[in-house]
Amino acid sequence: MSGGGHGHSNGATVKERADIALNNDFLRKAVKFTTERLKGGKLKATDEHGNWEEWRERGKQIRLHTVAHLDYYLNQFVDNARANGVHVHFADTAEEAVHISLSIAERKKAKTVVKSKSMVTEELHLNHALESIGVDPIETDLGEYIIQLAGETPSHIIIPAIHKNRYQIADLLSVDAGETLEPDTQVLAGYVRRKLRTKFLEADIGMTGCNFAIAETGSMVLFENEGNARMVTTVPKTQITLMGMERIIPSWADLEVMATLLPRSATGQKLTVYMSGITGPRRSEDADGPDEMHIIIVDNGRSLQLGDPEFQELLNCIRCGACLNACPVYRHIGGHAYGGTYSGPIGAVLKPSLQKNVAEWDDIANASSLCGACYEACPVKIPLHDMLIYLRRRKIEQGHGDKVEAAGMKGFAAIMSKSGRFKTVLKLGKLGQKLVARNGEIRIKVGPLKGWNSYRVTPSLPKKSFRDGWGTLEAELRHGLQEIAPEARARMEQIVKDRAKGGGHGHGHG
Ligand code: SF4
Repeated sequence: MSGGGHGHSNGATVKERADIALNNDFLRKAVKFTTERLKGGKLKATDEHGNWEEWRERGKQIRLHTVAHLDYYLNQFVDNARANGVHVHFADTAEEAVHISLSIAERKKAKTVVKSKSMVTEELHLNHALESIGVDPIETDLGEYIIQLAGETPSHIIIPAIHKNRYQIADLLSVDAGETLEPDTQVLAGYVRRKLRTKFLEADIGMTGCNFAIAETGSMVLFENEGNARMVTTVPKTQITLMGMERIIPSWADLEVMATLLPRSATGQKLTVYMSGITGPRRSEDADGPDEMHIIIVDNGRSLQLGDPEFQELLNCIRCGACLNACPVYRHIGGHAYGGTYSGPIGAVLKPSLQKNVAEWDDIANASSLCGACYEACPVKIPLHDMLIYLRRRKIEQGHGDKVEAAGMKGFAAIMSKSGRFKTVLKLGKLGQKLVARNGEIRIKVGPLKGWNSYRVTPSLPKKSFRDGWGTLEAELRHGLQEIAPEARARMEQIVKDRAKGGGHGHGHG
């Protein structure tokens, strides 16, 4: 995966990347604006649906069932796809997937590849590999085209250029066009549309990802809003689809549920604008379509999650991006701070869990407030907040936690496990804080407290602790009870006597 490997991305740590993002006011405003809009749209669409929770549960059950029987459905899909005339390949690693793609491109003597809907190819760094053998990869989703021009990676699963405004986009497209384009969305989209039209016609290969692969017919399904994926899958003579091995669903009936959950969760749309089902290359009676079609099924770490009780549900993800829009951390730092292909809560869990070596994880699992908003937003109910805790725990268990934090936690446990120690530490703390507390606040901005106190206030220890107050209160209560005890006892006795006189049974009548 991009940015992985050494706990850093582009040489920077998660904290350093987050700092850069937090100091970029423009990025923060742009990301907040768009995620708020997407989140609002999603809430409206799910309210209008009327039965959202029930459908969420159906979606979850479909994904759980499919992943639990992934070998069966993958085999069914492959058999059917091959019967449809598709060349199916399996790639265990990113290198294998790249090698297969390049071999096809070389055999076809390809000069240009048009691409659409392909987060998996981002994960594999396929564009660089294609360029290295002289093939020109052209992204055709508007947002992807923009960030390709900018030489960046996507900062959101479904809105890759979420961090840019129309003025920045106009600057980029003006350089591409060789003339000044107005920062008007119609003008800009019109330019890209005309430019890409010729690229579709020239391209030797069309390359796509895959939203869902239908096992019962060996078909692949693409959801999109711009119509470019249709061009990519119908104009070039050769088509390559790269799909993560978990993209399978059993049947078209299951697609109905997914087609309800995905667009509503992603953009608040009731339905995506274009939904294309592709079942093999062009047949003699078809008006268009590729003569040759390849599907490359990519593992690249996914089988590490399969069979893992804590992470298998990650394979249920339908890449809608709703967890990003709901996440208070993502909304402040945007996608690039996560340092990988996938960002937000899903990226924070996916990135480490796709890597075997715990030593190579960075601190991305700590970039979460564990508020659970991601779970609430997720259309297939993936418990991402639990997984973030599992990741933190695994890292510490395997000896790769923060040493200062680990020592601090051990000390904390030792103090909290004995009340005598706790009282002594409180006393010492009250004495020691005289040096650093001002107006009831401790504002140390060095050492382990630096990060915390830069953005928050640590209250100083009060003169009288809760324990001191509780001791006094308890004594007062005891005293009060003693005073009222004789009176209360007399009243109880009276009640019992009255009941006996009235012939009651002593219970059952309140
Ligand atoms: S984890 Fe859930 S909300 Fe996030 S992208 Fe995947 S399906 Fe969507």
